[in-house]
Amino acid sequence: MNMKDITNNPYFLLTPGPLTTTETVKLAMMKDWCTWDDDYNNIVQDIRGQLVRIATKNPEKYSAVLMQGSGSFTVESVIGTTIPRDGKLLVLVNGAYGQRIVKTAKTIGIDTVVIDTGEVDPPDLKKLDETLTADQDITHVAIVHCETTTGILNPIDEVSKVVKRHNRVFFVDAMSSFGGIEMDIDELNIDYIVSSANKCIQGVPGFGFAIVKTEEFEKCAGNARSLSLDLYDQWKTMEENNGKWRFTSPTHVVRAFAQALKELDEEGGVAKRAARYRENQRTLVDGMEELNFKPLLPRELQSPIITPFYYPDSEEFAFQTFYDKLKEKGFVIYPGKVTNLNTFRIGNIGDIYPDDIRDLLTAIEESSYWLKSVPEN
Ligand SMILES: *Cc1c(COP(=O)(O)O)cnc(C)c1O
Repeated sequence: MNMKDITNNPYFLLTPGPLTTTETVKLAMMKDWCTWDDDYNNIVQDIRGQLVRIATKNPEKYSAVLMQGSGSFTVESVIGTTIPRDGKLLVLVNGAYGQRIVKTAKTIGIDTVVIDTGEVDPPDLKKLDETLTADQDITHVAIVHCETTTGILNPIDEVSKVVKRHNRVFFVDAMSSFGGIEMDIDELNIDYIVSSANKCIQGVPGFGFAIVKTEEFEKCAGNARSLSLDLYDQWKTMEENNGKWRFTSPTHVVRAFAQALKELDEEGGVAKRAARYRENQRTLVDGMEELNFKPLLPRELQSPIITPFYYPDSEEFAFQTFYDKLKEKGFVIYPGKVTNLNTFRIGNIGDIYPDDIRDLLTAIEESSYWLKSVPEN
């Protein structure tokens, strides 16, 4: 077997992570690295510095911590480490990932209140304002930036203004948007933001990261409800031991991530990557509308990350058959996650270009088996 056979993808992953990565990112995992060696730790330090610089033009106020596991582990580590024992969390929910934050907090015994606006509507800012006025026990507010359930892009700038007017700590789950949508966490007044290796930075799964406002995070020693997920202790260890992780780190994944960051830089940084994702998404929606598919969200709420479409209006349509046909043609799409509507989702992120989207549209047209006049392959 030659290297090409090993790294060639069987299909494009049009999902919101893990997603299609470059051959060079995958090849970066072909060496074994010691977890506490200086060379490796220098790579970790370099990654931490780069993440903060991607997040803000004022990097001196922030610090990055990496955490083993999938993205949810890092979310749990932030919630369990930054909210004090007598703290109270308010979560703005409009989808499955917001609900996961609620479940995470409740599971570890944190007093939690929720403002839920369903799955296709933006957060209720007036209710947020009223709730923060009425309930002085609330110390922290959390929201998902791009709610991957629908791809809705939440207005974290407006939410932040309300949260900060009330002087509360602000946490953003930017798992599926960080690196793919431009933002400055200092301008946005965000205290904690989380993402993971396998989303818009285009690495492979295995760890997540939090970028923390140092002044705020310094207060969090001893809060953690878990040893493994003690983000403060992880941070102190990385700070004091030049990038050392407390427990075994996903060394190969970290190497791949360093390569992915290099490739983000070579592409022209977040602005360029965001432009490519936006073009992917526009190409997709324009093409799908021509094929008579209807997007779930109006364009003004839709992020460039992932796009849900209603099932076609036909008794003969079955998602699984459609999925299998597209997979045969080299494209893996995603089932819907909206509770009471029949939708499927197509991811726009990863090592995917508008030409790939055009090929996908051809494959979708050829796989529209429920129509009478499907063109023959
Ligand atoms: C992917 C994702 C997560 C984390 O999911 P994991 O399966 O734990 O990696 C959390 N929030 C959002 C918004 C996501 O898109």
